[in-house]
Amino acid sequence: MSKRQVAVPGHWKSVKSLSHENAVRVPVDRAVAKAVEDVVQKTWPQQLAGQGRDAAGISCAATIEVITVEQIENSHLYSKYENTRKEFCARATKGTARKPSYPKVTSDSNEQPVLTSKQLMSQLDEQLIPDINEYFIFHGAPQKHVQAILNQGIDTRLSGKGMFGKGAYFCENSMKADQYADDINNRTSGPHSMFLCKVILGHSHIAKAPANDLSRPPCLHHGTGACSCLPSEFYNSVMGTHRDGGQRLLFREFIIYEQSQVYPAYLITYERK
Ligand SMILES: [Zn+2]
Repeated sequence: MSKRQVAVPGHWKSVKSLSHENAVRVPVDRAVAKAVEDVVQKTWPQQLAGQGRDAAGISCAATIEVITVEQIENSHLYSKYENTRKEFCARATKGTARKPSYPKVTSDSNEQPVLTSKQLMSQLDEQLIPDINEYFIFHGAPQKHVQAILNQGIDTRLSGKGMFGKGAYFCENSMKADQYADDINNRTSGPHSMFLCKVILGHSHIAKAPANDLSRPPCLHHGTGACSCLPSEFYNSVMGTHRDGGQRLLFREFIIYEQSQVYPAYLITYERK
């Protein structure tokens, strides 16, 4: 398919053509709002509230109240994402049942399925492609970055070096996203924002230790060093599971290093309670 054949999603209400320049936030109808809120609530493990280094200063927030859910209609970002999705799909067909191009994260017997996958698939009227490990996952961002993400997406070139390198970070728990909604040293009263994004994980490298030097996913054969392998011989994302010292993270982290592997689909505005 040529790039021109990408069409905007049928459920978009305001942006109807790919030539539309501006990003638009559109309130969703009640059914979608309910579905998104459900995922926020079901991935908020109350018993973990206030735990962990990144929760500093928000120990009082035991629950969360969703105020609004808006869908993000940005044809420029969507078109890039859709073309990337097609490339991944083309490679997925080259795999076999025994050796898929993009194995599930559960190919490591210690790992559970991505928490959001089952809940969302049935409730949101959006097509995800399981064969390329496409998921809805959360991205927490401070208020001052919201407009930039709406207009430009989550730009991995601007990322700092996190525990798993210089990429865009996502989580399967709304509680984890909330920890990034404001400055850890200057918690604010809100309302706060988080994004629910469509993300193509593809073949995810399961990182059982921090790897803060990463600026792209590792090579299947050579890890992080320079090599001359083909693009198809690289992982497409990283799933971080453990911190220094081998202790398991409270929340798994999902990292991509290419902006076109994410589409920020919903903006959720909420308050801590
Ligand atoms: Zn290599």
